[in-house]
Amino acid sequence: MKKEALYYEKLNDSDVKCLLCPHQCLIKSGKSGFCRVRYNSRGVLEATTYGLVSAAGMDPIEKKPLYHFYPGSMILSLGQAGCSFHCDFCQNYHMLNPADIPLKELSPEDAVKMADQRRSDAIAYTYNEPWVGYEYVLDTAETAHAEGLKNVLVTNGYYMQEPFENLAPFIDAMNIDLKSIRDDFYKTVSHGELAPVKRTIERALDSGIHIELTNLLITNCNDSPDDIRKLVEYIAGLDPKIPLHLSRYHPAYKMTAPPTPQSTLSTAYRIASDALNYVYLGNVAGREGTDTFCPKCDALLVSRSGFSARRHSLDAGKCTECGERVNFVME
Ligand code: SF4
Repeated sequence: MKKEALYYEKLNDSDVKCLLCPHQCLIKSGKSGFCRVRYNSRGVLEATTYGLVSAAGMDPIEKKPLYHFYPGSMILSLGQAGCSFHCDFCQNYHMLNPADIPLKELSPEDAVKMADQRRSDAIAYTYNEPWVGYEYVLDTAETAHAEGLKNVLVTNGYYMQEPFENLAPFIDAMNIDLKSIRDDFYKTVSHGELAPVKRTIERALDSGIHIELTNLLITNCNDSPDDIRKLVEYIAGLDPKIPLHLSRYHPAYKMTAPPTPQSTLSTAYRIASDALNYVYLGNVAGREGTDTFCPKCDALLVSRSGFSARRHSLDAGKCTECGERVNFVME
């Protein structure tokens, strides 16, 4: 399946410029953009993965990770192919190229039917970077909203503004990867830029979308106390109630540095917890950074084990011990 792409301009009879993400690729006829899923067919830009998925299954919402959005629920999770970054540490690099991965047809309508059949109240666009399958995500999210379902993006946030304004009304929650607070990291390791990601975070907040951020700490790359302090300062300046997931790196793709030491994660956790209300550690052993406590009275709100979650002193977005309104979206 393919569909004419939104957000591009024709430069002449055969060349086009894609305007979906800040790469703004100039694409000659017969070629694809950097993400490999937007193809110039004789001057018409095609979204080549429209209506095609590489994965469609039920996941705990904690796996996205989203810890504050309907905790303990299961969510239909759809993946496609392609990405607007090529991170040296990519853990899903087998999904970068659509030619390397089997894709199955699943129309937006069938995706919504599947969510209904599997009793999922929401759809997550995840696994690869959903932004490069924009037209499919837009149509599916719009159809899902019309049926009363919610939509979740798990994303690198590398967006042009206009397409995001168009999609935002259909998006309820996002986990945005804030890979580093340094632009040179984005440029050299991820082959992107920091500024558009920050803009997406800020626009998502302004739009009332529930957001959580993930920062993968890579050994000797973006894990210094100074890096963590600056990253946390930025988040706290937006809203200290934004949940932050600090995740442990393991060698993958082109990155051979050893796994992040537990001591580095513990230091980062302490620095972040001094400035933010909700900080979590991912891909680690032990209980540190697992549960949620009330930022006012310290009551246990949610305990977690693996990807399962159990509510304690939490009801209707409030701590039942002290009445504090906490940053949870739930029925
Ligand atoms: S979406 Fe793909 S083709 Fe378009 S600008 Fe971004 S990387 Fe290039």
